[in-house]
Amino acid sequence: MVLRKLVAGNWKMNGSLAALGELAAIREAADRNASVDVAICPPFTLIAAAVASQPGLTIGAQDCHADDKGAHTGCISAVMLREAGAKMVIVGHSERRADQHETDAEVHAKAEAAIRNGQIAIVCVGETEAERDAGRAVAIVEGQLDGSIPRAADGAQLVVAYEPVWAIGTGRTPSVADVAEMHAAIRTKLVSLLGSAGTGVRILYGGSVKPDNARELLSVADVDGALVGGASLTAAQFVPIIEGAAACA
Ligand code: PEP
Repeated sequence: MVLRKLVAGNWKMNGSLAALGELAAIREAADRNASVDVAICPPFTLIAAAVASQPGLTIGAQDCHADDKGAHTGCISAVMLREAGAKMVIVGHSERRADQHETDAEVHAKAEAAIRNGQIAIVCVGETEAERDAGRAVAIVEGQLDGSIPRAADGAQLVVAYEPVWAIGTGRTPSVADVAEMHAAIRTKLVSLLGSAGTGVRILYGGSVKPDNARELLSVADVDGALVGGASLTAAQFVPIIEGAAACA
């Protein structure tokens, strides 16, 4: 099934009120390339200001707590994100799995929280370099999907992002054949977990997507978009990726 492509930018712990100036050109590119969905996920502190500055652009968040409220100092709930205007939430990014020791069970609960609050959960999975070298990449990702994917979700609520850990921020990408093999395996796994709804869940590729490799990666079967880190920080880099996705749509 050909799904509508999604190009989502993950600003990580970058950006400032001044950086929101990039959003006007990104929103214009989203409008020009209406066959593609576009989103930017800035830090929590910029979400409301980003929504206010570009109401026509989809704004997301980079994490949420599994609970809607409570005694969790420093955490942000999906309810709060919804109020701030976030329409999507990235959960289980490998940086959080590593730095905050997030488990599949926690990622699953966070994805449930996002969906419960009317947001699209972007669940990230991906193997380390050692796991790939050991020939375990597909098995690792299948295990993460088993543990992280809410079983009642469908394509309107859930997106999966395949992000090989060794490709994030390194300028390295897997071969087209490796991306194709992994995305096909993820699709098969989603169908086994979700039934026919698994055919409608978009599978993004993430890891060093840049203007010069976006078209090649986005034309692989079952690559339904991209999760973009560094190259989403400026319109100059992000807009050509949106255009690349539109060319493959
Ligand atoms: C990411 O961290 O989600 C990511 C894909 O980063 P980069 O594009 O910088 O590799």
